[in-house]
Amino acid sequence: MTVIRPGATIGLLGGGQLGRMTGYAARSLGYDVHVLDPDPACPARAIASRVITAPFVDASAAHELATGVDVVTLEIEQIGADALTAVAAVTPLRPPASAVIIVQDRLRQRTWLDANRFPLGPWRPVVSAAEAESAVATLGRTVLKKPVGGYDGRGQARVSHPVEAADAWRSLGSGPVLAEQFLDLELELSVLVARREDGGMVSYAPAVNHHEAGVLDWSVWPATLPDQVTRDARQVAEDIAAALDIVGLLAVEMFLTTDGRLLVNELAPRPHNSYHHSERAASTSQFEQFVRAVCGLPLGSVDLLQPGAIANLLGDLWEGGEPDVEAALKVPDVRLHLYGKTSARPGRKMGHLSAVGATTEEAKSKVLEARDRFNHREHWDI
Ligand code: ADP
Ligand code: MG
Repeated sequence: MTVIRPGATIGLLGGGQLGRMTGYAARSLGYDVHVLDPDPACPARAIASRVITAPFVDASAAHELATGVDVVTLEIEQIGADALTAVAAVTPLRPPASAVIIVQDRLRQRTWLDANRFPLGPWRPVVSAAEAESAVATLGRTVLKKPVGGYDGRGQARVSHPVEAADAWRSLGSGPVLAEQFLDLELELSVLVARREDGGMVSYAPAVNHHEAGVLDWSVWPATLPDQVTRDARQVAEDIAAALDIVGLLAVEMFLTTDGRLLVNELAPRPHNSYHHSERAASTSQFEQFVRAVCGLPLGSVDLLQPGAIANLLGDLWEGGEPDVEAALKVPDVRLHLYGKTSARPGRKMGHLSAVGATTEEAKSKVLEARDRFNHREHWDI
């Protein structure tokens, strides 16, 4: 196994907030960071000594990134196959292109998960209006998902009756889509796995995640779950990471249904929004763990330091003017994490708040109170 030691340079495909926070951890460990992103004002520009501005399908730009660094990883899975190949030809690419290519397309990902017998809710591929209609007739309430480019609930349509199916399919561009039965959820959880090239692996205890309109709203760690669910969730996540030969991180989003089934929702081969509390709550943050795994350093402890919670800050909070940062920061044990995005749009993730507490409930109530104050601009006294 090639160990990439501090002093070396890490190349990042993608310069969003996940790249920015990875960069903080990499710099802290003594690495330099180069970034490739289509946006010259990307959040990771703050931590990169070099930013290459190019689309993620630009194989020659990816090659240029790779030739200037010692290892390349990614914070977004939507990287063109040619660009991945161009990187791997000159520099270690971690995770491997094969894993990224499986994950980056929802249909390919589902087909792979199914073939490898991981637990999934009922689903089927759909390529026509007639297939959409028969899928909804069979599955009942259904969610149609575009195979690529969707995130934060975008590129999805929920359908209750077969008569609505054709229009919903057209609204997603009349191409191939994934049709999933819309499940009755007890809760959503995620497990983060870190894995090295030699197969060494650790998994974090599950986080519980709450979504609003398809977007992560808050997350707490560690989840309070029956022991068997925790064990099964970690086992499934570790088995997927090993089967994909992940080097770096794999986040596995899962559903626990009201009838007690633990099902895989989707995968992300990178840091994940639902583990941002690991910076406060775990012995090793997801970002440091990512750097350690990618560079072949010893993996850090995933022990709990103290229960933690995060709440996302979407661009909507800026609609009435600048939010009240001071009021939010008066809540004890709360920290503000802003991503340096230059314009706020509704639904855009601008940052998050984190909190710790004696219990996850306490951490959650602090972080939600802080977000409430952030949102209201009248003065609060504590
Ligand atoms: P994204 O890439 O946008 O996160 P997801 O597939 O994770 O896409 O969907 C976003 C959210 O929508 C999920 O976290 C969940 O709250 C809800 N959702 C997605 N699929 C289903 C489903 N089959 N049943 C119930 N809820 C779902
Ligand atoms: Mg998701």
